Amino acid sequence: MAAATRLISRLTLVTGGGSGIGQAVCQRFASEGASVVVADISEESANETLKSLTSDCRGQVHMSAEVDVSSKESIKKLITNIQTLYYQPPSVCVNAAGITQDDFLLNMEEEHFDRVIQVNLKGSFLVTQAVAQALVACGAPKGSIVTLGSIVGKVGNLGQSNYSASKAGVQGLTRTAAKELSRFGIRCNCVLPGFISTPMTDKVPEKVITKTLTAVRAGLTADVLKTEIRRLCSS
Ligand code: NAD
Repeated sequence: MAAATRLISRLTLVTGGGSGIGQAVCQRFASEGASVVVADISEESANETLKSLTSDCRGQVHMSAEVDVSSKESIKKLITNIQTLYYQPPSVCVNAAGITQDDFLLNMEEEHFDRVIQVNLKGSFLVTQAVAQALVACGAPKGSIVTLGSIVGKVGNLGQSNYSASKAGVQGLTRTAAKELSRFGIRCNCVLPGFISTPMTDKVPEKVITKTLTAVRAGLTADVLKTEIRRLCSS
């Protein structure tokens, strides 16, 4: 099927849809014919993304919604609203909501550790669980849930003990969800991006980005990359 039409009549949910990767996913899904629910903790950003979505295919209806993925109540309200409006749960869900609160391990505040785990890891769990429960309850024949891990969850990164732990957790969560949900026709996949230029990476020091890009272009392995980043961050 042509890429431009492969999501016709699919209902999709994208958390963190107000910015960066989530916003780009919303725009791509809409351009491929899907109806998109843009969900974000920032209602304003979600509305901005909503305004940017195309609706060239018949039956495409997009909506924006405010949600805090770290709150079970907030997610429950979101899923209920979606089912009220569309008479079905989303069959495609991308968990792109995420935060960083960087500091070196020796200085990291407990609440910064907890908040990053709550949003990135617990948020991915709560959204994945709620969407999967809704799909199973209505007997949907198939579904696809995507989570956002990070290369940092594999190799670690200075100043990101909370973030790297959350992303390693997201990978484990997704692998288990995939094993448990395959019998319901629900695929679960975790994407591990490197650096993608978004508001999140605006905070990464330029010298780290430049060196990382050079290393990636040179085809260095994850281990060499890890050593290089460590050397840079300590210099
Ligand atoms: P971003 O900061 O541009 O977007 C994140 C979005 O999540 C924002 O719109 C924000 O408002 C929203 N959000 C934050 N907390 C939320 C909450 N509690 N509930 C709902 N929404 C919330 O970041 P991005 O770069 O687009 O990152 C998207 C995902 O990709 C994140 O999970 C991030 O960890 C992951 N990732 C990004 C990169 C990168 O290089 N940009 C690399 C690896 C992984």
